[in-house]
Amino acid sequence: MNTNQSFIDLEDQVAAHNYSPLPVVVNQADGIWVTDVEGDRYLDALSGYSALNFGHRHPDLVAAAKDQLDRSTLTSRAFYNDQLGPFCEALGQLVGKESILPMNTGAEAVETALKIARKWGYLKKNIPAGQAEIIVMDGNFHGRTTTIVSFSDDPEARDHYGPYTPGFKAVPYGDLDAIKAAITPNTAAVLLEPIQGEQGVQIPPADFLPGLRELCTEQNVLMIADEIQSGLGRTGTTLACVYENVEADMYTLGKALGGGIVPVSAVAANRDVMDVITPGTHGSTFGGNPLAAAVGHAVVKLLATGEFQKHAATLEEQFREGLSKHLGNGVVNVRVRGLWAGVDIDPELMTGKAACKELAKKGVLAKDTHGSTIRLAPPLTITSEELAIITDKLNEVIEDAQA
Ligand SMILES: *Cc1c(COP(=O)(O)O)cnc(C)c1O
Repeated sequence: MNTNQSFIDLEDQVAAHNYSPLPVVVNQADGIWVTDVEGDRYLDALSGYSALNFGHRHPDLVAAAKDQLDRSTLTSRAFYNDQLGPFCEALGQLVGKESILPMNTGAEAVETALKIARKWGYLKKNIPAGQAEIIVMDGNFHGRTTTIVSFSDDPEARDHYGPYTPGFKAVPYGDLDAIKAAITPNTAAVLLEPIQGEQGVQIPPADFLPGLRELCTEQNVLMIADEIQSGLGRTGTTLACVYENVEADMYTLGKALGGGIVPVSAVAANRDVMDVITPGTHGSTFGGNPLAAAVGHAVVKLLATGEFQKHAATLEEQFREGLSKHLGNGVVNVRVRGLWAGVDIDPELMTGKAACKELAKKGVLAKDTHGSTIRLAPPLTITSEELAIITDKLNEVIEDAQA
């Protein structure tokens, strides 16, 4: 029989060591459940960092993909295809923007937004050539390209990858006064995650996003919200910004937009911003391909019902309550919005990685981040009873460690 260990050993030999996965080798997945090669079943409480918001192989998404596989999969943007227009129309309506620029991975969407912002700064704001500045947040995560890691403050993500791309200024997350002080006539944009996922689901003060919106409008600076992880239903609203009643000038979307089937990302903006991009000035061989557009469109149709957002909002209180059982006694802090949670385990008790290993032994998959924090993001299709499994098992892990 093929064991988990045989696949782990093989990967270790032949694949690059840029990850350190939990020792579970998935070979089948359905809804919120995954099964490993030895037949053990786990509840997936990570959902591919929100790439699987609708669970594994959601029937509507698989049907859309299969249907498109039988028709056309790739045209390149040298030609039109019959899937891209309808997808962009539906996505634009969902997020309230006039136009969509489709890409593939999240990092590419962020790169695209940065290019649009700089170009807008030169063409529309008359920033002197080569002088455009973009303000970013401490503790950010926007992907892995050389430009994006240039403004990361995570040494693991950044070290030894220089020389770094200039033109970025970092300020403390959630600090409106620091942003105000950092803005100059050459500032084109402020880029931020409305909630910092990789940083452990850090939720900013309630007045931060509305205050930033006002500041950006007043200073003629673009507000770019990276909703790649926070968006598309996770927080109980279509976008995390919607929860705060804030509209950014540009959104970057990814992860769940591909339904867990293919990589699909996008930048959404109104015409006055998007139209600085003209034929030949930006592109991607795979961006906007018919298979991606068909799957992305099916994702948008699921979200357009509002059901998933409502369900996530409904379960938020149960999730918070379940995770707060050991608050002050094994758990230092709990942050929850919708079906998204960061749980800071008492570092004296155990590391996040150790907690996730124990959790996996009890049949729940999650991921640690930054030492002692566990990030939970179960599929939005999870039931109340299934959600209780996650919180019960995590509480058991804490109790076992305390015993
Ligand atoms: C995952 C993520 C990205 C990068 O997406 P990739 O598809 O991995 O390139 C960018 N921004 C945020 C907020 C993310 O969570």
